[in-house]
Amino acid sequence: MGPRAMTSVADVPFLDLAAQHAEVAVELDEAWAKITAANSFIGGSYVADFEAQFADFCGVKECVGVANGTDALELILRGLDLREGDEVIVPANTFVATVEAIVAVGSTPVFVDVDDDTLLVAAANIEAAITERTAAAIAVHLYGQMPDMDAISEVTRRAGVALVEDAAQAHGARWLDKRAGSFGAAAAFSFYPGKNLGAFGDAGAITTNDTALSERLRSLADHGRRIGTRHEHDLSGRNSRLDALQAAVLSIKLRRLDDWNASRRSAADLYRKLLDATNCRVLQSDPRSTPVHHLEIVRVPQRDEVLSALDAHGIGWGLHYPIPSHQQTPFKQFARTPQPVTETAAGEIVSVPMFPTITPHEVERVCEVLLDATQGSASGTRS
Ligand SMILES: *Cc1c(COP(=O)(O)O)cnc(C)c1O
Repeated sequence: MGPRAMTSVADVPFLDLAAQHAEVAVELDEAWAKITAANSFIGGSYVADFEAQFADFCGVKECVGVANGTDALELILRGLDLREGDEVIVPANTFVATVEAIVAVGSTPVFVDVDDDTLLVAAANIEAAITERTAAAIAVHLYGQMPDMDAISEVTRRAGVALVEDAAQAHGARWLDKRAGSFGAAAAFSFYPGKNLGAFGDAGAITTNDTALSERLRSLADHGRRIGTRHEHDLSGRNSRLDALQAAVLSIKLRRLDDWNASRRSAADLYRKLLDATNCRVLQSDPRSTPVHHLEIVRVPQRDEVLSALDAHGIGWGLHYPIPSHQQTPFKQFARTPQPVTETAAGEIVSVPMFPTITPHEVERVCEVLLDATQGSASGTRS
């Protein structure tokens, strides 16, 4: 996004968290004062309370707070005992962190393509990629929406492959009546500030129904320390802990998350209404899913022109993700086949403003500029 010399009343930011933070400011101040006074910054009751609340929210037995979402993914793969030579199926259309975690444990990422209507991983593609070396498959709930978890659960269960969820963009999303984070052997969440549930810095969590796995992960994230001991280390682990200050922020914000996600859904509905049957193509949702619209993706012909128009009108935008992970330098070596849907989409996608307090007027303004910039250009993105 280019720098803007001046902002005007008609500007629409890509992401604005100020109104959301004003809503919780008093509670945040109280919590920070308490934690400072108690001198208890790592672990402790704020972390334990948040873990219990987030497990409850996701409908799972266990939650382990960690330092960030990337660590959450890597720890899960280590906890599942993945090793060199093991293959892990991963959608090509994801943030690189999903792939980094696989490479970090020495396993081999096997890229698969996504569905053209949702840009989410397709169960049939996972099924087709399973070999005798496949140890796990990662379902990424990209943009706040879950792929067909009935089909993916069935495919992985039948093949005896561990299902891991990358739920970093999907806090509170549902497939039928179950939340993101409750389907796989374990799920990774990120609380990066811009995520639907964001900390005031880096933070992450793992959710699972497997208590033995959660204990192993909790130990791995705390230098392999045997739970309940101080000096005994059973595993060579690492330091990936959740800070008390971040946990306090997350607890306070979690109480509002369903409301904030509902506001995102209203904005997404309006985007869909205004862009229906135009050259700006929005993502489809399976009727069985309840998305939480972390990002609002529009596919446009002649993207450069659209981006210039958005800049000219003071409208914030992002690209998620213009270079697919299998084409990034460190991961190219694992790309065995082209990923046509992902590769085509990478040249068409634009992320437009989406946050809980965006107003209908702001959504209308964004759509006006989008339609103006794409009007008259051929509808090349539809088949
Ligand atoms: C944000 C994100 C991550 C990584 O989370 P961090 O907390 O930034 O490490 C992983 N996967 C996806 C899909 C993400 O969006």
